Amino acid sequence: MHSPANSPLSILNHTYGYDQFRGQQAEIIDYIVGGGDAFVLMPTGSGKSLCYQIPALCRDGVGVVVSPLIALMQDQITALEQVGIAAGAINSGMSDIDVFKVKQKLENNQLDLLYVAPERLVMPDFLNSLEGVRIGLFAIDEAHCVSQWGHDFRPDYTALSFLADRFKGIPRVALTATADQATRKDIIERLKLEKGKTFIGGFDRPNIHYSILERDNPKKQVFDFIQNHHPEDSGIIYCISRKRVDDMAEWLQGKGLHALPYHAGLPAEVRSKNQTRFLQEDKVIIVATIAFGMGIDKPDVRYVAHMNIPKSIEAYYQETGRAGRDGLPSNAFMIYGMDDAAMQRNWIEDSEAPEIQKRIEHQKLNALLGLCEAAICRRQVLLEYFDDTGEPCGNCDTCDTKPETFDGTIPAQMALSAVYRTGQRFGVVYVVAVLMGKEDDRIARFGHDQQSTFGIGKQLSKAEWQNVFRQLVSRNLLRVDVNEHNGIKITEKGFAFLKKKESIHFRKVRERKAGKKEKAARRTKVALDGKGDQVLYENLREARQKMAKARRVPAYVIFHDKTLIELARIRPKSLEEMLEINGVGESKLKKFGQTLLDVILAG
Ligand code: ADP
Ligand code: ZN
Repeated sequence: MHSPANSPLSILNHTYGYDQFRGQQAEIIDYIVGGGDAFVLMPTGSGKSLCYQIPALCRDGVGVVVSPLIALMQDQITALEQVGIAAGAINSGMSDIDVFKVKQKLENNQLDLLYVAPERLVMPDFLNSLEGVRIGLFAIDEAHCVSQWGHDFRPDYTALSFLADRFKGIPRVALTATADQATRKDIIERLKLEKGKTFIGGFDRPNIHYSILERDNPKKQVFDFIQNHHPEDSGIIYCISRKRVDDMAEWLQGKGLHALPYHAGLPAEVRSKNQTRFLQEDKVIIVATIAFGMGIDKPDVRYVAHMNIPKSIEAYYQETGRAGRDGLPSNAFMIYGMDDAAMQRNWIEDSEAPEIQKRIEHQKLNALLGLCEAAICRRQVLLEYFDDTGEPCGNCDTCDTKPETFDGTIPAQMALSAVYRTGQRFGVVYVVAVLMGKEDDRIARFGHDQQSTFGIGKQLSKAEWQNVFRQLVSRNLLRVDVNEHNGIKITEKGFAFLKKKESIHFRKVRERKAGKKEKAARRTKVALDGKGDQVLYENLREARQKMAKARRVPAYVIFHDKTLIELARIRPKSLEEMLEINGVGESKLKKFGQTLLDVILAG
C-alpha cells in the first residue's frame, strides 16, 4: 500500500495538476506499481507516458525509460522538470562531462526517471553501472520498434529481451501506439512479457477529422486546405521524397507561409534547428519525409497533411496521430493519385526483402488503398483494421458527404481488355485514348484503331476513365510498371476477375464546386464562447510565449492550449483557485501561476 501522499492519484493531482485518470490509466498504473509486467497499446495522446512515469514515482528506485528518440530526450526531460520530477538522459549526443553528471545522480539514487537509447542500455559498461542502482521499473517506449512486422523495425531493440533475465523481478512495461495483431504478438514474445498483462485501449482519435482526396493540383490543394482551415496553426506536411520536400517548402515560403524542410539529406544542424523552431515557435509548418515525427510530442499540432500515401494503415495512423495530442479538434488531410500506388508497389518489388515479407507489404498497401477508395466512414475502416469497431463517425469526409458509387463491371472489363489488346506496355493516357476512340498518330501507327476496343468507352469522360484506372490499380487488378515507362499490366487478380466474370463497384469522381470549402475539423476558436474570452486567451498565449522564450522551452511545456482555454473561461481569481484548473500542478503554479493570474486579473 502506498501512503496517500504518494498514491498514484495524489501524484496525478499535485504533480501533474490533473483531476482524474483517463481510460485504463489507473488500472495500468496500479498493476505496474504492484510489480506486474505490462504491454500497453493505446493511441497517441491517450496518456501513455503517465502509465510509466507515475509508477516510477511510486516505486522505490529510478524508472529506466528506453526510447529511440535521442534528439527529443532533452525536451522530455525539460517538460518533466517543469512539474518537479527529477529526470535525466544518457545518450550518444551528450558530452562526456554531462554523461558523468547524470551517472553520478543515478548512482546517488537522485533520479526519478532516466531516459536511454536502446544501444546504450545494452552496453556492458552501462549495465555494470546500473548494477549498484535501485531500479523501480523499465519502460520500453515505441515498443513496435522491436518487431520486424512493425513498420519501424530497429535491430537494437531486439537485444532488449535480456532485461527479463538480467533484472528478474523488476517490472517491465512496453508501450506503443501502433501495432496490428502480428506485431503485438511479436512484441510480447520478444520482450518476454507473456506472464504480464496486456492493455489495449480503443484506437479512436475522435478529435481528428479525416479526409482523403484525389490529387489533381497537389501544391494548391494543400495550400488551400491550410488557408481555409489553419492559417494560424502549426502543422506537418509529409512528402514522398527529399526533392519534393525542398520544393514544397520553398513554394510555401514563396506564398508567405512559415514552412521549413526536414529530411535525412539535410545537415544535422539544419534539421535540429528546424525541429526546434517547430517545437518552440508558433505557426511553423514542417514539410518532411517520414524521417520526421517519431516521438514529437508537441501537443498542439493542428493538422497533418499527406501529399502522397504512406505504405500502410499503421504508418498513416501513426503519422496522422501526431495531430491533436491535446484532444482539441485537428485535421488529417491526404491527397493521393494512381502513381502513389505504382511507386509503392515498385519499391516493394525492388527491395531485397524475402518473398514472404514482400507479400505482407503488398497486403498492407492494399489495406491502405482500400482506405483511400472507401465509400464508407474512414474511421470505421481505420478502426476495423485494428480490430476495433465504431459507428459512422460524422467527423470524416465520407461522413460529411457520402460518396456515390456505381457498378463498374463493364468499364472494368473494357479497361482490362484494352490493356491486354494493346500489349500491356502503354501508359494510362494512351489506353484511355484508345478506349475513347481518339484520333492519334501513335494509335494509328500501332494499328490500335483497328481493334475491337477502339472507341468502345465513349460514354465515360477522360476524368471518369482515370478514376476507373486508379481504382483498378488500387485494387490490384492492374499494375503500373515504373521501370517500363509506366506501362500498365494486368495482374493475376486482374486475369481472375475477367475469367470469373466478377462484378465491381467504384467510387464516383467527386465533383468539387469551385470556391466551396471542404469541411474539416472545427477550429480551436469555437472552444471559447464569448469574444472577451478570446482576447484573454490571446493575452495568456502571449504571456506564455514570453515565459517560454525566457526559458528556451516550447510554449506547451509551460501550459497546454487546453489549460489556457480553461483559464480564459473560468478566470480563477487566486492562485488557490488556479490550482483547480486541469494541467496546473503545484510546481507549475509556483513557477508560472502569478504571471498568468496578473494577466487574468488585468483582463
Ligand atoms: P501518449 O504518450 O499516449 O501519446 P501522452 O502521455 O503524451 O500521450 O499524453 C498526451 C497528453 O495528455 C499529455 O499532454 C498529457 O499530459 C495529457 N494527459 C495524460 N493523462 C491525463 C489525464 N489523466 N488528465 C488530463 N490530461 C492528461
Ligand atoms: Zn466518418
